[in-house]
Amino acid sequence: RVREAYETRFESATTLDGHHVEVGANLGNTAHAEDAVSHGAEGIGLLRTEFIFMAHPQAPDHDTQVVEYRRAFEALGPERPLVARTLDVGGDKPLDYWPVPQEDNPFLGLRGIRLALTRPDVLETQLRALMVAAEGRPLRIMFPMVKDVEEFLAARAIFERIVAELYPDTHQAPNVQLGVMIEVPSCALLAPSLAEHVDFFSIGTNDLTQYTLAIDRGHSRLSAQADGLHPAVLQLIRMTVEAAHAHGCWVGVCGELASDAQAVPVLVGLGVDELSVSARQVPMVKSWVRRLTLDDARRQAELALTRATSAAVRDALEAL
Ligand code: PEP
Ligand code: MG
Repeated sequence: RVREAYETRFESATTLDGHHVEVGANLGNTAHAEDAVSHGAEGIGLLRTEFIFMAHPQAPDHDTQVVEYRRAFEALGPERPLVARTLDVGGDKPLDYWPVPQEDNPFLGLRGIRLALTRPDVLETQLRALMVAAEGRPLRIMFPMVKDVEEFLAARAIFERIVAELYPDTHQAPNVQLGVMIEVPSCALLAPSLAEHVDFFSIGTNDLTQYTLAIDRGHSRLSAQADGLHPAVLQLIRMTVEAAHAHGCWVGVCGELASDAQAVPVLVGLGVDELSVSARQVPMVKSWVRRLTLDDARRQAELALTRATSAAVRDALEAL
């Protein structure tokens, strides 16, 4: 099965009844973009740009970042999209040259977009470098750890400033979409208000699960319970997809759940448009989608939503 999946990796992930799901790759290093494409990735669904920052002894300047991002665009070619997440540090990901005051609860502290908004200069440089490197190729920019529309609009104002500077005539960036990661439960609950303003959502099920179940995703004893197939998390995903589609936005999933064999049918059934997984999992995830019908996937999603715990969801799906 693994071999068969690998041999068909360049075929699209289309269900037996013709429903296409885009499958992209998660990346922390743009040098691996070519490898992702050679595994059948239809784009980069999550570029974790903080790894580029972590690999440098100080914040990479504009030119350094352009070189990094350009490498990904060149590997992807003119059609495949790059979804770049802006710098997501703080919490479990410290940056040596950007110290954050000691916090009792770093996961609930200055991290993600909250931290980025304290340094608009860093965010500006990054946004400028991304758009310069894209040169009109499909770029999707998303902000991490957003909790509500106020934070998104603050980040978007910075983006718009840079767009106006780069494109003084039109104030429009060609082929750039703007989105948010859905990682904080408040954002899923308020997805209708966000969907009015964004082009897309990408659900970060790792953090969304951690914050919904109040379980540290890296906890040595508890992390196994931080299962994204928990019905509470699935409800939030459903709300996110419904709000997005009502406003013509697309929705991806870029957390671990997107490469879980039992979860893929459920996510497709909930209406998720794109899955982003590690490069080597792309062939398998595509092959799982190809074995489904959309009706069957919807039934699996409905079944999962009737259960009360993640173990019960997995048992019910297993029994099918
Ligand atoms: C997530 O939280 O699901 C996610 C994709 O982001 P990261 O794992 O980098 O926090
Ligand atoms: Mg996250």
